[in-house]
Amino acid sequence: MARAKTDRGVKVLLRGSQIRRRVRELAREMERDYKGEAVHLICILKGACVFLADLLRELKLPVSVDFIAVSSYGKGSLPSGEVRITKDLDHSVEGLNVIIVEDILDTGLTLNYLYRILESRKPRSLRIATLLDKPARRVKEVKVDYVGFQIPDKFVVGYGLDYGERYRNLPDVCVLSSVES
Ligand code: 5GP
Repeated sequence: MARAKTDRGVKVLLRGSQIRRRVRELAREMERDYKGEAVHLICILKGACVFLADLLRELKLPVSVDFIAVSSYGKGSLPSGEVRITKDLDHSVEGLNVIIVEDILDTGLTLNYLYRILESRKPRSLRIATLLDKPARRVKEVKVDYVGFQIPDKFVVGYGLDYGERYRNLPDVCVLSSVES
C-alpha cells in the first residue's frame, strides 16, 4: 500500500496504532524481565517524552521516572562524538533498576556516553530501550535491550521527534522528504 501523506512533505513510516502495539509488546517484555521488581525509567529529553509517556502507562510494574538532557557537538550535521549533559537527573540512581528510554539510536554516540556515565553511578542494573534504531549509521557500539523498530537511514520526525522543534506532535513516525537521504 502506498504511504499516506499527513502533511506537506511528510510521509508516514510507522502509524501511531502500529507504534502503540509495539510499545505494549515492549512493556510485556520488561514485565517478564523484571518480574514485579521496581524500575526507574530515565527519559532522554526531549525526543523520548512521547515514548516514555506511552511506555509508562503500559507498564504493570512499580515505576519511577527521571529526566536527563544532553547535547551533541559537531561541525554541521556530522557528530563529533562529544556529548554534554545539559540537564542532569534529579535523583540518584544508586541501587535502582534503571532503563534508559531513548527515541532513536543513530550513531550511538549519545547512548554510549550516557550508558558509561550512568553505569559509574552504581545502579543495580542498567538497560536501554529505544523506540527506533538506525543501524546503518552506527559509529559506537551500544548494547540495546529493547528496540521498537529498526528503520532505514532516513531522517524521521513525529511521535516526539522534531526537526527545528517542529513535528513532535505528529502521532505517526514520518519521513521528512525535504531532508530525506
Ligand atoms: P546518536 O548519538 O545515536 O547519533 O543520536 C541520537 C540522537 O540524534 C537522537 O536522540 C535524536 O535527537 C537525534 N536523531 C538521530 N536521528 C534522528 C532522526 O532521524 N530524526 C530526528 N528528529 N532526530 C534524530
